[in-house]
Amino acid sequence: MTKSMTMDQLFLDEVRDLYDAEKQLTKALPKMAKAASSEALRTVFEAHLGQTQEHVTRLEQIFDSLGEKGAGKKCAAMQGLIKEGDQLVSEMHQGALRDAGLIAAAQKVEHYEISGYGSARTHAQMLGHSEAVSLLDETLGEEKEADRKLNDLAEGTINDEAMEESGSDMKVRRAGPRTRTAGH
Ligand code: ZN
Ligand code: FE
Ligand code: FE
Repeated sequence: MTKSMTMDQLFLDEVRDLYDAEKQLTKALPKMAKAASSEALRTVFEAHLGQTQEHVTRLEQIFDSLGEKGAGKKCAAMQGLIKEGDQLVSEMHQGALRDAGLIAAAQKVEHYEISGYGSARTHAQMLGHSEAVSLLDETLGEEKEADRKLNDLAEGTINDEAMEESGSDMKVRRAGPRTRTAGH
């Protein structure tokens, strides 16, 4: 059902969505850390868990600054992203290939958050909620940093290890003899 809404309500909904998303993540990140084979990857997940707990606190500060009670609004997107990550973990053996998949799943989460915080910050700016702007901006910076760290890990070693460990059908096919005859 549609209802008439103000920019203030849209903004509050966005903050409530982020609040629920971050809370879901505080439960998912320990599982992702446990599933990681690479110690470096585990460390990134554990460090981001600490930051994520701060993100929850910052969102509570935003509710306070707006005089609103801190209540989440179920974030279906984060629920879906976490579900995909869980599936990946249960379908694959532990190792570098699964780590490469875990990084991809985690980067989807970071990109979702980066997008959500970016929009919420813009809307807070328009509404003149300066305390919210600076709190959202701080978290946005940490989400971007987490995304960069994951990228560095993937491109630095984990993707190569995954290829070495598990190989690729493409490589075999390319190296193999050509069996197609002219005309086909
Ligand atoms: Zn976060
Ligand atoms: Fe959401
Ligand atoms: Fe994050």
